[in-house]
Amino acid sequence: MSTPLQILEKYWGHAQFRPLQSDIIDAVLAQKDVLALLPTGGGKSICFQVPALMQDGMCLVISPLIALMQDQVNNLQEKGIDAAVIHSGMPFGAVKETLQACTSGAYKFLYLSPERIESNLFKEYLPALDISLIAVDEAHCIAQWGYDFRPPYLRIADLRKELRGVPVIALTASATKEVEATIIEKLSFKEHAIFRQPYKRPALSYSYFEVESKINKTLEIIKSVQGGGIVYCNTRKQTKDITELLMLQKISADYYHAGLSAEERQLKQKKWMTGETRIMVCTSAFGMGIDKDDVRTVIHYDMPDCLENYYQEAGRAGRDGKKAYAVLLATSADITKARNLHETRFPSIDTIKNIYQAIANYLQLPVGIGEGSYYDFNVLEFCNNFKLDLAIVTQTLKVLELEGHIQFSENIFLPTQVCFTCSKKSLETFEEAYPVFEPLIKALLRSYQGIFDNRISVFEKRLGGICKLDAMGVQKQLQQLAAMGIIEYLPQKETPQIHFLVNRAPAAFLHIDKDQYLKRKKAFTDRINTLIHFATNPGCCRSVFIGNYFGDIDKDPCGICDYCLSQKKNKIDDAGFAAIEKALLAQVGKTPVPTAHIIATIGDDKKENTWEVIRFLESENRLIMNEDGTIQLA
Ligand code: ADP
Ligand code: MG
Repeated sequence: MSTPLQILEKYWGHAQFRPLQSDIIDAVLAQKDVLALLPTGGGKSICFQVPALMQDGMCLVISPLIALMQDQVNNLQEKGIDAAVIHSGMPFGAVKETLQACTSGAYKFLYLSPERIESNLFKEYLPALDISLIAVDEAHCIAQWGYDFRPPYLRIADLRKELRGVPVIALTASATKEVEATIIEKLSFKEHAIFRQPYKRPALSYSYFEVESKINKTLEIIKSVQGGGIVYCNTRKQTKDITELLMLQKISADYYHAGLSAEERQLKQKKWMTGETRIMVCTSAFGMGIDKDDVRTVIHYDMPDCLENYYQEAGRAGRDGKKAYAVLLATSADITKARNLHETRFPSIDTIKNIYQAIANYLQLPVGIGEGSYYDFNVLEFCNNFKLDLAIVTQTLKVLELEGHIQFSENIFLPTQVCFTCSKKSLETFEEAYPVFEPLIKALLRSYQGIFDNRISVFEKRLGGICKLDAMGVQKQLQQLAAMGIIEYLPQKETPQIHFLVNRAPAAFLHIDKDQYLKRKKAFTDRINTLIHFATNPGCCRSVFIGNYFGDIDKDPCGICDYCLSQKKNKIDDAGFAAIEKALLAQVGKTPVPTAHIIATIGDDKKENTWEVIRFLESENRLIMNEDGTIQLA
């Protein structure tokens, strides 16, 4: 029997566990229900993947984002671990085929989007599945008043009733005490263990600037702090505009958002990871799964909409434990806009009903039908046709989703599908005439049962592995086979889709739970106010503020955020500060000098104050403090 560490080395090639991973894995192996709170990129996946590999049976993984599930499944497959995914938008045949394979133990991991739990097909197969562990990724999505509620997550509770005795591990990056309690309650935790990493990041300096020109401030920061960085902003257009402005100043930068193709995104991410691109200007779509330790600055060009998101995104700086900066920028107009954000985020119930009617018109969907159907839904075109505001439509779709009328997925991932369209006989003749296609045809027939009669989801990478072609080569041959009438070929695509969960209702009778709606609106308003409070007037160390928000007990000020620095500076009067600063700068140049020596010449009685000035100048990037106890000009 292998140990967890041996499994980690064997499949991942990592030499040791990160903090908490090992304890979490032990608790899972001891059959406890576990809640693991680790930062994004902290290595949560391994916490359920390693113990699952050590046990018999299958691990069911519930995750909210199709693209992420697909990534993880691909990663596992590349390591030679059998994994599959079932999500909404997958054709019936493909789901059935996958579930059937699960009954004979074909997969170690089955990734499932939460709305699938309720489907009849899944329920039908459930008793036949040998499930040893349920992993709930992004578990905060279960909290109704939390920042990222996904209604289908509530269905996980039913799953636990069906699978009595199967332990659960819930994973998330951050949760307030309230959200933590909700997770434990809604997932019906039994004997359980909670692991959380402290929220404090000793070398991360938080600061906030209210400025007139955000671009000037951004340039100033990027020019004064070396190393890689991220600039988060709210719109796709902005990512491009800001990138251009940075490049005009000869700063290496690129932009990233969810509207780019998967290949483009991968390429941009890679260049940034290797340092070829220094600054990534992006929307919040950037960050999931990025694994770069030495990010020195994260600048927020726009306000996020809650402290959870801010903390997550800012926390991508300085994971190597060295000094890093998280800077939040705003204009006074931004603050006003944030205060009014609840108006667009929570449109009036009449507005919601009108937009619902417009959607039905757009899809030409009469009252009383639609249940279970998927429709391509181009939001931009829809807004244009009906002269509606995109932000309000987006929010209305969310409300309709929460109320269980529809599901909307902006980027539903439909894997490549293939079905043979010729007879077996003519296929043989074809193979003789075109032997170059033989390896691919054989690989298709061998790897995917039923592909002769049904559309089956295929994975180009896997096929490529079998017939020694790269993914592009596989795609090219599939195209050629389709052109010659041998197969039907539906390449993978990402399209926005609306899925009607119930029949279309007359707009006037559309059910919306008003109390719940107003309660959610209030929770949202509270969250945004907390963030505004954090930004404009924290009243304490920013690290302590964040810790308090998440229920951490640590109350020690970080000493490096803008609040702490202003407190320190205030201890010395301005004249005293200026005098020490002058004396100090007169003695320090570009070559390192011993700090003790400088302090001695300024005067032992001023020792404390001199230290404060040194730290202040360092935080302003004017001085460098070396590890050997020397200082020099930056
Ligand atoms: P999370 O889900 O917490 O955001 P992931 O599970 O996606 O994080 O892991 C982030 C990255 O960290 C992955 O590339 C993973 O391989 C890597 N990683 C996880 N654990 C370790 C470890 N013990 N040693 C080295 N790298 C690790
Ligand atoms: Mg993860």
